[in-house]
Amino acid sequence: MSTNSFSKFYPLFQEKLKDRVLFDTPLAPFVAYGVGGPADILTFPVSEEELQWIDDTAKSHKIPVTVIGTGTNLLVVDEGIRGVTISLSKAFQGIEKLPTEHADKIRVRCGGGVLKPKLLEWAVENGYTGLEFSAGVPGTIGGGIYMNAGTKYGCYGDILKEIRLFDFEKGFQQLERNNLHFSYRESEVRNSLVVWTTFELRLGDKTSIRREVDRIIQERAEKQPLDYPSCGSTFKNGTDYSSGRLIEKAGLKGTTVGGAEISTKHANFILNKGNATAKDILTLINIIKTKVKEQFGVSLECEVCILGGSIEGTESKKT
Ligand SMILES: Cc1cc2nc3c(=O)[nH]c(=O)nc-3n(C[C@H](O)[C@H](O)[C@H](O)COP(=O)(O)OP(=O)(O)OC[C@H]3O[C@@H](n4cnc5c(N)ncnc54)[C@H](O)[C@@H]3O)c2cc1C
Repeated sequence: MSTNSFSKFYPLFQEKLKDRVLFDTPLAPFVAYGVGGPADILTFPVSEEELQWIDDTAKSHKIPVTVIGTGTNLLVVDEGIRGVTISLSKAFQGIEKLPTEHADKIRVRCGGGVLKPKLLEWAVENGYTGLEFSAGVPGTIGGGIYMNAGTKYGCYGDILKEIRLFDFEKGFQQLERNNLHFSYRESEVRNSLVVWTTFELRLGDKTSIRREVDRIIQERAEKQPLDYPSCGSTFKNGTDYSSGRLIEKAGLKGTTVGGAEISTKHANFILNKGNATAKDILTLINIIKTKVKEQFGVSLECEVCILGGSIEGTESKKT
């Protein structure tokens, strides 16, 4: 066990969380890229009470807090994440149909740890339409809300009705969708953890919903390099440019650093071809930013969240 400045709190976390906490654990197996250093204290709370306890304990000992989903949009640096990391992957997994007054409107409450493909499959199986836009998008519902994940067909903010958050300043909060602002890959869910969400779907025809989902998945497979680990699109698109096109025009397709490569199929994807480090990927990100700025005067904005490496002993904070 390491002797970082948080290791003195390990027994406290062990006693409370038992088998729902790991120490000095490499995060690479927990994130899509398969890279990244250790989390000091990796927790898997199974109740709101445990969430509250983790936050209270972190606050009283000034331990920083970070939330992760399944890491499909995360680049964890090689130095890892200091303090407490929270994953909802061992609980907050429920999908429940709620009663509604309108027979054709479906309300579904979904835990923040539920995988998007699982919710989509549930909807398809029951003949509920509205989630087709998410076909092929990986990760948890919590990560999807935080990122306002989506595609050209829609985004989670479009179907959200209600949300339960754990706000790291104000505690648990239940909010109506109308009180939250969502935009392209942005939500107002900051400094908070998504505990559960309520979405509104509609009754549809199961066969046509399934056909549409299959079509979108096929369309994505034709355009996207899905054979190697990535985080999907590395940079956000602008209102008047496609980041992938600019990267391609800059002649960067196929550029490699260590084990990381700018995809030859879709230039906005950076792939881990086998033995990449976070540093390799970060270096490619910086090469792209520099070249695109030089050639087109455009400052690309990262869609991928870069986490970790903060100085030990800093104030408790989320991403
Ligand atoms: C092959 C591939 C294709 C992709 N295609 C798309 C696409 O088409 N559209 C798209 O939008 N994205 C896409 N992505 C990116 C990614 O899947 C989404 O951003 C996804 O929503 C991230 O979910 P996650 O659970 O993996 O979150 P993570 O990557 O683990 O975290 C992302 C951010 O969300 C925060 N977060 C995670 N869980 C919670 C929670 N419960 N409460 C609050 N904050 C939380 C984290 O702190 C972090 O800041 C793709 C990724 C891959 C690998």
